[in-house]
Amino acid sequence: MSSDLFAKLAARLGPKGHSTDAATIAPHLVEWRDKLRGETPFLAMPASTEEVSDVVRLCAEAGVSITPQGGNTGLVGGQIPMGEVLLSTKRLNRIRAIDAVDDSLIVEAGVVLTAVQQAARDADRLFPLSLGSEGTATIGGLVSTNAGGVHVLRYGMMRDLVLGLEAVLPDGRVFAGLRTLRKDNTGYDLKQLFIGAEGTLGIVTAASLRLFPRPREHIVALAAVPSPERALELLHRAKAGTGSLSAFEVMNRLSVALTVKNVPNIRDPMPEATLLALLEFESAASEGLREAVEGVLSDALGAGEAENALIAENETQARAFWALRESISAGHRPEGAQTSHDVSVPVSRTPAFLLKADAAMRAIYPPARIVAFGHMGDGNFHYTLMQAEGADPKEFPGEALSSAVHETAHALGGSISAEHGIGVMRLADFARFKAPATIALMRSVKAALDPKGVMNPRVLAP
Ligand SMILES: Cc1cc2nc3c(=O)[nH]c(=O)nc-3n(C[C@H](O)[C@H](O)[C@H](O)COP(=O)(O)OP(=O)(O)OC[C@H]3O[C@@H](n4cnc5c(N)ncnc54)[C@H](O)[C@@H]3O)c2cc1C
Repeated sequence: MSSDLFAKLAARLGPKGHSTDAATIAPHLVEWRDKLRGETPFLAMPASTEEVSDVVRLCAEAGVSITPQGGNTGLVGGQIPMGEVLLSTKRLNRIRAIDAVDDSLIVEAGVVLTAVQQAARDADRLFPLSLGSEGTATIGGLVSTNAGGVHVLRYGMMRDLVLGLEAVLPDGRVFAGLRTLRKDNTGYDLKQLFIGAEGTLGIVTAASLRLFPRPREHIVALAAVPSPERALELLHRAKAGTGSLSAFEVMNRLSVALTVKNVPNIRDPMPEATLLALLEFESAASEGLREAVEGVLSDALGAGEAENALIAENETQARAFWALRESISAGHRPEGAQTSHDVSVPVSRTPAFLLKADAAMRAIYPPARIVAFGHMGDGNFHYTLMQAEGADPKEFPGEALSSAVHETAHALGGSISAEHGIGVMRLADFARFKAPATIALMRSVKAALDPKGVMNPRVLAP
């Protein structure tokens, strides 16, 4: 049965469009932190929407499931196949159109985010999504995980940046929704179904994206902040005082110390700070921003919201400030047993989250080393617990700590997954914290679109 299917797929896709060679397939099977290793009998690499449609239709007819994969940077394992056909979008790699008057760009699913940013720049526009994996993550993956990143504060998540989508449905039909309209109230906004669906409702083959004016002024600053409460005050002062805040990231002391220790060429400009805030401002106007930012930081110092503040004097220094923030994951990875989280709470409750979560961790495992960093301006922390230095990794109570982190976020009205999704790694806590009626509704949508369970059947709400 399957060999008949694979012969049909191979004939349709040609030699460049498929592989059954173990060495070619191998890199697609390993999750980037090596937390999962998958398997697949067949790698499909279609180069057009028509080819994707035929692959899906043939698989559906044969009763064989598909795992879609873009750049394989997902952090919850939804892109790693466990026996399914693996469909890589890497050959769907064209920018189909860019229209500076419409402020829109139409791009295929396999195009890497940095290429989209560059295409926008070439047209004197901005595509604002930005995240640590931007050199590898693809538009299809970013849409399917509703990715966030560092500019959500100003521009929203991927969902807010998508004007239209083209997607192949689980029976091979094509949802042709590649529009660039700003307004269209003609019924259900069906493209939204595919955004954040993690490949469970179809394969995104292309997206039309929203572009913005390119900033003329761009300022990056670091502030030493005495407490999370003060960080919130600084956040609001910076928003209101400039109208131009595009990122507000925080890093606790341990996150910075481990990054300086473990990542080459990273410097800590404020070793005395208990909490560091990185602020980025951008403005489409060509002057006036620097004065506004200086005013905000000077007032923040006077009000005790910051104990020290530095504005990057040039692009090299701005990049160095960002490099510190972006290297934090690499900074704590070598530190032994650990468990990481991507939680969100209402912005007003971010100080309460840190207070309660830290206390809960110490109650379960007093020597826990706590790394807290991330997108505080969006209420989103990446919160990692690590074993005590030199301790036996086997004695690290990762599951109990994880459970308590999620309980704490949930009790504050938060989410157990702010931007990475559920995939296969967060299934248990998804079932625990999502309302049963919501899960039932999600399963109804899945059953309506994919009654045979062709698309990523182990992922999200199986
Ligand atoms: C260093 C690093 C930093 C990161 N920082 C952030 C961050 O700040 N914010 C954030 O949100 N995420 C972040 N991520 C997570 C990750 O980059 C995003 O989830 C990204 O959107 C995944 O894109 P991808 O192309 O690699 O998708 P993959 O990993 O290949 O797939 C992710 C999911 O989407 C599905 N999928 C992929 N392509 C398609 C398609 N065309 N149609 C249907 N389904 C598809 C897969 O089946 C899987 O379920 C980070 C990851 C790394 C490694």
